Amino acid sequence: MSTALYNRYRPATFAQVVGQEHVTDALRKALRTGRLHHAYLFSGPRGCGKTSSARILAASLNCEQGPTPEPCGVCDECVGIRTGASMDVTEIDAASHGLVDDARDLRERAFFAPASARFKVFVVDEAHMVTTAAFNALLKVVEEPPPYLKFVFATTEPDKVIPTIRSRTHHYAFRLVPPGVLRTHLASICEQEGVTVDPAVLPLVVRAGAGSVRDSLSVLDQLLAGADDDGLHYDRAVTLLGMTDGVLLDETVDALAQRDGAALFTVVDKVVSAGHDPRRFATDLLNRFRDLIVMAAVPDADARGLLESFSPDQIDRMRAQAAAVGPAELSRTADVLHGGLVEMRGTTSPRLMLELILARALLPAASADPAALLTRLERLERRSVLAAPDPAASHPAASHPASAPGVGSGPVAANRPF
Ligand SMILES: [Zn+2]
Repeated sequence: MSTALYNRYRPATFAQVVGQEHVTDALRKALRTGRLHHAYLFSGPRGCGKTSSARILAASLNCEQGPTPEPCGVCDECVGIRTGASMDVTEIDAASHGLVDDARDLRERAFFAPASARFKVFVVDEAHMVTTAAFNALLKVVEEPPPYLKFVFATTEPDKVIPTIRSRTHHYAFRLVPPGVLRTHLASICEQEGVTVDPAVLPLVVRAGAGSVRDSLSVLDQLLAGADDDGLHYDRAVTLLGMTDGVLLDETVDALAQRDGAALFTVVDKVVSAGHDPRRFATDLLNRFRDLIVMAAVPDADARGLLESFSPDQIDRMRAQAAAVGPAELSRTADVLHGGLVEMRGTTSPRLMLELILARALLPAASADPAALLTRLERLERRSVLAAPDPAASHPAASHPASAPGVGSGPVAANRPF
């Protein structure tokens, strides 16, 4: 358990690269049929397998059994590439080098045949940082390379890669890994690690990792380090991540859409009793409304990459929510939440503030008078208490149904553990 999960589970073959079959299948086919280009551009979000795939491509080309789509992983060339000891496979980070001097150096090294391998492979990371001057120094070798030379340019920002590179490479676009695929991958790693993980934890990890395998594994690493002896539980994971579960956000939006005060304040109760910070919840809820506003305004917002990565079923749920609430109401609620977040700064009763803010969101016609809000709030809360299965145990307020509502004297203020 000493090295990071990401390093221990770094893919060694194309088959092990998660969620990029559109790239790995094409590369494997090219290797099988011998239709290899001399320069590739791998683009895509961080932590999605670009550098790993570049190394696997280098191993495929140089494996003693190769060139092969399935490098053996045990020959000197495969091991050398994996450990970074290979003389013929060089990784250069264009961001940390000006790459002007390096480019001249590269050009000179490119003229020498490989030391032991079949091919000399240059992997240029952060290729969007390569300047025109630097690339011009390389242009001749990239355009008319000796037969033993291969280039792999990798970048998170393909649009910023100078056109002279792009036009001379085969471009493969890596993608964020879909949540379902990532979840399966994480589950298999947990199994290999021999840790019991509450099934509800993995979606949290997937959300925190936002489609990046590397980020997801580093989140999982952190959670496993803080796990209990009998495994990783949902409550612990939520606390460690400081996250609001999306289910709570769904329930809140649904309650607001249906003007269901009981459901709304039950969510607040869940938020607080689960140990979430009401401010964090309000922030996450505001972000959710931002996404819903964008969805209402741009029907294909997801395809345009305007939303964070959500699973398709979550997108469907949110589309229904955006339609149920309506654009004007979405905008107003976001304003109420935003204003409320400012008010929540430094408050000694964040829960009370959260309830007031949600009451304001729930009752558009309500006056801004706190007493009126508290009265309505209490009425709503009592309704939620009556709807709860065991009111006496969790809501002492229920035992005083006749208490007069009022600021500071009602059950809300008197009996709630703020
Ligand atoms: Zn090999």
